[in-house]
Amino acid sequence: MKFKHMMMLGVFGAGMAIQSCNNKSNNSNSDFDVNCDQFADLQVLRYEIPGFNELTPKQKELAYYLYEAANAGRDIIYDQNNKNNLLVRKTIEAIYEANPNHEASEDWKNFEIYAKRFFFSNGVHHHYSNLKFVPACSYDFFAGLVKKLDPSKLPLQGKNADEFLAIIKPVVFDVNFEAKKVDLAPGIDNVAASANNFYEGVTQKEVEDYYNARIKKDDAEPISWGLNSKMTKVDGKVIEQVWKLGGMYSTAIEKMVYWLEKAVTVAENDKQKKALELLVEYYKTGDLKKWDEYNIAWVNDTESRLDVVNGFIEVYDDAIGKRASYESVVSIKDMEATKRIAAIAKEAQWFEDNSPIATEHKKKEVKGITAKVITVIQEAGASAQSTPIGINLPNANWIRQKHGSKSVSLGNIVHSYNIVGAKSPVLKEFAENEAQIARAKEYGALAGDLHTDMHEVIGHASGQINKGVGDPDQTLKNYASTLEEARADLVALYYVLDQKLVDIGVMPSLDCGKAEYDGYIMNGLITQLTRLNIGENLEEAHMRNRQLNAKWAYEMGKKDNVIEFVKRDGKTFVKVNNYEKLRDLFGQLLKEIQRIKSEGDYKAATELVEGYGVKVDQELLKEVKERFNKLNVAPYKGFIQPKLVPVMEGENMVDVKVEYPSDFLKNQLEQGKNYGLLPVKN
Ligand code: ZN
Repeated sequence: MKFKHMMMLGVFGAGMAIQSCNNKSNNSNSDFDVNCDQFADLQVLRYEIPGFNELTPKQKELAYYLYEAANAGRDIIYDQNNKNNLLVRKTIEAIYEANPNHEASEDWKNFEIYAKRFFFSNGVHHHYSNLKFVPACSYDFFAGLVKKLDPSKLPLQGKNADEFLAIIKPVVFDVNFEAKKVDLAPGIDNVAASANNFYEGVTQKEVEDYYNARIKKDDAEPISWGLNSKMTKVDGKVIEQVWKLGGMYSTAIEKMVYWLEKAVTVAENDKQKKALELLVEYYKTGDLKKWDEYNIAWVNDTESRLDVVNGFIEVYDDAIGKRASYESVVSIKDMEATKRIAAIAKEAQWFEDNSPIATEHKKKEVKGITAKVITVIQEAGASAQSTPIGINLPNANWIRQKHGSKSVSLGNIVHSYNIVGAKSPVLKEFAENEAQIARAKEYGALAGDLHTDMHEVIGHASGQINKGVGDPDQTLKNYASTLEEARADLVALYYVLDQKLVDIGVMPSLDCGKAEYDGYIMNGLITQLTRLNIGENLEEAHMRNRQLNAKWAYEMGKKDNVIEFVKRDGKTFVKVNNYEKLRDLFGQLLKEIQRIKSEGDYKAATELVEGYGVKVDQELLKEVKERFNKLNVAPYKGFIQPKLVPVMEGENMVDVKVEYPSDFLKNQLEQGKNYGLLPVKN
């Protein structure tokens, strides 16, 4: 199951806000420029690290080691996304290295846009749609650049330029060559159709047979099979190539272990020390039982000021949800802002008891969910450049039930989104009436925060699976992610219009909940379409879930006109006419999705997702794209990472300084140099 969700649009949800919310202790610098770069459909933002300078020297030293460990894994995400990505990246790096004062021709500009898109997405496929994108510069221009390179600079040794070009041409220029990173289409071999590097030469059936022979249904503490390996065939036999010291990705993991071992020496306390030691052991052995032990130790470490997520964690990029992408998030706890999320977590049992789901699917005892707002110091791997705004880990169901989970909201990231959102013209273009705009301006930021908090803290954490049904990833397969995100969203939506939030002091009035409903419905039915190309339908789990929730409520509420489409001057708008009834519909859908999950009802899952969450009205899409394109707003946003620079006195680190780079391309090229730890293969 997935416990991480992405910023929806940078316009609605958290990014919709006009003023940053006042219950946050962001003692950030108001002069800090959050804008960095914009190209294609992407915008790169900057975030600040308020509070870093108040850390003790020892805490800063720890932060620095975790930062280096995070970035040591940078190459891994490229290779996981596609086996040719490192080849392409080294080529781009070599071209820039050889052309420091390059021309300003149209071809160069287009090559540069491609390079930046490639870096943003950690590879040749779009980070969100998973589709291949290609440069707008001509192949001849690109080939000319490659031919001018000293052959020893080419990433594949022993090949001349022509041989090299024959290999790289389809990778970079053929949109149909390995067209999709993750292909979730029904009725096909999703493993074979996906261009990620999790499998090679194996069929979906072979993979499933391999694990079915190993998974025991009644195992109370099942390990996460397949999480940290590539699956391939040797001499006709299916095998796992494990990502560990001495295994696949060894040279990067060696460096990660080096920095993590240093981190152990300056851990804040014994619990944190134990967790870090287990993480090191896991990387050394590749033993997934150690991974579970590490996660338990990590969940138990709640007192430390610094924290880190590091590992092969989320399985979104594997069509069958077994293998995980590398990521790391290094953070500090924001003590003041944590009060809001903690107030919600404290009432977790109340929320479960009062949920509209069937009694037999409710958790009798909701286990310790530790919730906090964090200030991000560094993101790497799958968490960069596109970032989550909330994370809830660990993912193993049995650990969550037995030992609890940690839920975090990424405060300073959301803060940057809010600053950009305040200036966005999208709200004005797509809002149906002035009241929506006024509510969004007044409550948008807080509504977004509350949605994220509840999605992570009480959403993913709620409900239980019937005995003997097994893991929803196994029963609901390609629909598991979408339905899990839909379920967490629905919990948040159901409660954001509940007086309870006013009573516990986290929401000023129910109007805040209405602002959330306006934004969610508008996004789910209209504005998220800005991310698609004409002819496309929805693929990504979070986008599918949002349309599923909004469209189901629209269809089911039709007879009462709960949600209404309005046409004006050739433009389509949507408005909520009855907030209470909409809340009731969200509750009904939540109950049904919980039933599907609890019972493992794959047929109902298929009907629900395919029926409401996938297909897009192409006429509407065309209209929305036209309106959106006039606004010059990038539908996807991501971040350039701050740099930590140690201050040494002899052998001793006496301080760590933070630098905030502002040139995205330069920063990426520099990171490639500093953290290019894996060899290139073809
Ligand atoms: Zn989620």
